[in-house]
Amino acid sequence: MQFTELGLKAELLRAVGEQGYDTPTPIQRQAIPAVLGGRDLMATAQTGTGKTAGFTLPILQRLTSGATDRLSRVAKAPRVLVLVPTRELAMQVEESVRTYGKYVPVTSTTVFGGVGINPQIAALRRGVDIVVATPGRLLDHVQQRTVNLSAIEILVLDEADRMLDMGFIRDIKRIIALLPKERQNLLFSATFSPDIRELAAGLLHDPQSVDVAPRNTAAETVNQRIIEVDREKKRDLLLHLFETRGWHQVLVFCRTKYGADALARKLDKAGVNAAAIHGDKTQGARTRALADFKAGKLVALVATDIAARGIDIDALPYVVNFELPNVAEDYVHRIGRTGRAGQEGEAISLVCHDERGNLKDIEKLIRRELPKEAVSGFEPSLHAQPRPAPQPRGGKPAPAGGKPRGAAPRPGGHPPQHRSGSRHR
Ligand code: AMP
Repeated sequence: MQFTELGLKAELLRAVGEQGYDTPTPIQRQAIPAVLGGRDLMATAQTGTGKTAGFTLPILQRLTSGATDRLSRVAKAPRVLVLVPTRELAMQVEESVRTYGKYVPVTSTTVFGGVGINPQIAALRRGVDIVVATPGRLLDHVQQRTVNLSAIEILVLDEADRMLDMGFIRDIKRIIALLPKERQNLLFSATFSPDIRELAAGLLHDPQSVDVAPRNTAAETVNQRIIEVDREKKRDLLLHLFETRGWHQVLVFCRTKYGADALARKLDKAGVNAAAIHGDKTQGARTRALADFKAGKLVALVATDIAARGIDIDALPYVVNFELPNVAEDYVHRIGRTGRAGQEGEAISLVCHDERGNLKDIEKLIRRELPKEAVSGFEPSLHAQPRPAPQPRGGKPAPAGGKPRGAAPRPGGHPPQHRSGSRHR
């Protein structure tokens, strides 16, 4: 199937063509006609599936085709609201709006925390059609009466599962309550957990379901390896791997902000150009690090799960899990950063004795055992003492018989305790 068969107008097809895409991805094939037809949508899709174009393109078409009653709209008030979990994702989604909307008269802006509010107020006052926002800052604008949500025709919740993980459910509900009842709702989520089902049930009307990314899709296409090593030797092993394998453009995952900073410093000191990105970094520092990484000026980008979410880099050759995530599904998100679109990708996890439980959880989720090896000179000691895994404090209690998705950090809650005793995350 070609993009030209989806019923999109020439101006949009031209912008898509300029990106070099002629074949729609599976989610685009299913989502675009549904959204054009005005249906609500429940899509299970991860980053990397082309989901952003899957909702952006039909929204741009609806906004510019007279499919909605323009006369009834409140002057200058936004017509589309896209809620996302992170600033990075907000920037990337809005970038897509600009890219695909290059030849249609649609305006957009981002609204997220961590940067000055005044430029956002100015942009909203000038009037935009599409607002891409993180929930907290959007509510700041609501409170200050600097955004008018009474003309929203289409609501998109992007990476809804992650927004729930980050504790945004109340904010989301408050925002939804401010929107006109009559509207189209599109919900995108990497997983279809009970929480997401509940959210969908209260939000969507007769939705079309699209499920293109079973949770372990990436897990099947990426070459994954486990290197067993003692925790104390992980940093030296990682340096050794950089030195001996000629790695470039490696995304390295750490569990904590503190760990990410320390590792980036160590790599940098040893001559491997590296930077860390996480929630404590300023927006400018994050944007700079990401740009340097994309441009090849940085060899390694050391990230926490939340900060890495939504990073859009095509065909990343390597992902390294310096530490395994607490939540098995985060592993699938992490390795989904590599091996995209048929490219070769490699995901290497450095696993120490006390992470074996996490590894078991991951293997259970992806339904296969991962090959394990040791690197000469860094073999794990046979007598390594297991240490208790760090337990999240605060947040929801664990549901019986399962690990809580709530093990991810929650703004406003107590961060999980790192075993070094650091309060960083
Ligand atoms: P997303 O899942 O929206 O984060 O998109 C992942 C990547 O796929 C982005 O870099 C897009 O530019 C790219 N992409 C989107 N649609 C297509 C397509 N039809 N063919 C090839 N690449 C695409």
